[in-house]
Amino acid sequence: MSVDLKSAVLELIRRSSTSLHPSWERAIADAAGKEDKDSSAGTVFSTILENIKLARDKSAPICQDTGSLTFYVDYPAGGRESNYTNAIIDAVIDATGKQYLRPNAVDSITGKNTEDNTGVNAPVFYYHQWDKNEVRIRFMQKGGGSENCGAQYRIPDSRIGAGRDLKGVRKVVIDAAQQAQGQGCAPGIFGVAIGGDRASCAKFAKEQLFRKYGERSSDPELAKLEKQLLDDINSLGIGPMGFGGKTSALEVFIASQHRHPATYYVSIAYLCWANRNGTLTINGDKVTYD
Ligand code: SF4
Repeated sequence: MSVDLKSAVLELIRRSSTSLHPSWERAIADAAGKEDKDSSAGTVFSTILENIKLARDKSAPICQDTGSLTFYVDYPAGGRESNYTNAIIDAVIDATGKQYLRPNAVDSITGKNTEDNTGVNAPVFYYHQWDKNEVRIRFMQKGGGSENCGAQYRIPDSRIGAGRDLKGVRKVVIDAAQQAQGQGCAPGIFGVAIGGDRASCAKFAKEQLFRKYGERSSDPELAKLEKQLLDDINSLGIGPMGFGGKTSALEVFIASQHRHPATYYVSIAYLCWANRNGTLTINGDKVTYD
């Protein structure tokens, strides 16, 4: 590969941290258009949109919490994982020095910050070798406030009357939105996974957050549930930053995987409006960003 991997990843981080993807900027503009301009919700949306523009113009982070960092790397046969890891870690250290990223990696026992966003499982890496002859690196920055609003349910859940079916799934997702009450900087995006074990369910839910505004599930039943839940959550009236309003969720993305007959997990990965993720693709000498 003749591409300078570290430089390409550094640019991926810069773009992700400072420029909201047009799909999500449109989602926020659509939500703003539903509110009275002089209402609290209207004012919050205007501030968010102005902030997005300023961040892009100045190449400055969209939010002061640049989040925890996860890289999903798909690579062709013959690739070496340690080469990707080393280049990505170097890019993360550089990006922290350039202040695209705030130092967010803290030792869980001592509380000491490493100051460069590296440490044990920081960043988080997921590797997958695929049959394509190109490299795809997907990058997610997830703010701590939004991570705190995520949840995992084991259903049936008698507390909220959720059974082991899609009606039960609907109930737990609404419950998670109610519990959040606008914390984690609403309006947000709900990535929902059904099935698997606890760990795979949480991972699968988070991966749904790479989907784009308006991208419905290919499963008609799940696509229908996504639309229902979007209406359900938006009818709660929580609104942007919890100030009240018509939009509390920008999107709901649901996916399902097989499960053990005795288990039924539903994981909800919640992401704030500052949806900073991006994709870098390297094919020969060609580098593209999305
Ligand atoms: S939840 Fe999102 S928008 Fe709010 S402070 Fe954290 S990263 Fe920023």
